[in-house]
Amino acid sequence: MIVLDKVNKFYGEYHALVDITERVDNNEVLVVCGPSGSGKSTLIRTLNRLEEIDAGRIEIDGRDIHAKGFDVNALRAGIGFVFQSFNLFPHLTVLENCVLAPVKLGRASKAEARDYAMQLLERVGLAHKADAYPSALSGGQQQRVAIARALAMRPPIMLFDEPTSALDPEMVGEVLQVMRSLAGEGMTMVCVTHEMGFARDVADRIWFMAEGKILEKATPQEFFAHPQHPRAQQFLADRR
Ligand code: ATP
Ligand code: MG
Repeated sequence: MIVLDKVNKFYGEYHALVDITERVDNNEVLVVCGPSGSGKSTLIRTLNRLEEIDAGRIEIDGRDIHAKGFDVNALRAGIGFVFQSFNLFPHLTVLENCVLAPVKLGRASKAEARDYAMQLLERVGLAHKADAYPSALSGGQQQRVAIARALAMRPPIMLFDEPTSALDPEMVGEVLQVMRSLAGEGMTMVCVTHEMGFARDVADRIWFMAEGKILEKATPQEFFAHPQHPRAQQFLADRR
C-alpha cells in the first residue's frame, strides 16, 4: 500500500504538489489524469524518489521512503517504472536488456533470469525478437520490451508515465493491451495516461489533478458519467 500524507513539492517558488493526502491500495489500478503541467509526472516520480519532496510523508508498505538513510536502490528495484521514452540500452539485445538488472542485483542466476525474461517476452508478444537490438524494433515493440524489462525484477508495483504518448497511434493498442493484462493479474499500478478508454475499462480509481492538487478522485463510472469539479468537466469535454 502506498500512503501519501500532506506531500508538498516545490520547484523553486513554484508549488508543484500541494498537500497531497491519498492512498493506493495493493492490487489497485490507479489512473492519474489532468492537464499538462498539473503535476502528474512530479507526483509519480516522488513514488520512486526520482523527485524528492519538501514536506509530508510517503509510505510504501509502512516504510517512509523519503526518510534519511532509506535505501533508494532497493526501493527502485521493487518498483517498475515505464516512461514515455523507452530508454532501452541500445548496445544490448532485447533479451540482454531484460536480463541485466536481475543478474546485476543478484536477484537471479543468469540462467534463471534468461528463462524468466523469455517468459516475459513471450507474454508481451516479442519472444521472436529476443536477439534483436532495440534500434530494429518499432516504438510499440520497444515500449513492450521496456515493460518486460521492468517486470523482470518482479516488482509488486508498476508506475507508468504516459507510456503510449510518444507512440504512433497504431502502436498504442498493443502497449495498452499489455498493461490491461497486468492489471488483470492484480499488479498494483499507477498510470499517468491520457488514454481515457483505458482509464474507463481498467482503472479501479481515477485521480484528476490540476495545479498540483488532486481535485477529484472517483471510480471511472463516477468520473466519466458525473465529473464533479468544473476543471474535470472541462478536461473531459475537451476529449469528447
Ligand atoms: P504533462 O502532462 O505535460 O506531462 P505533468 O502533469 O506531468 O504535465 P509535471 O511535469 O509534473 O506536469 O510538472 C508540473 C509543474 O512543475 C509544471 O509547471 C512544470 O513546469 C514544473 N516542473 C516540472 N519539473 C520541473 C523542474 N525540474 N524544474 C522546475 N519546474 C518543473
Ligand atoms: Mg508528465
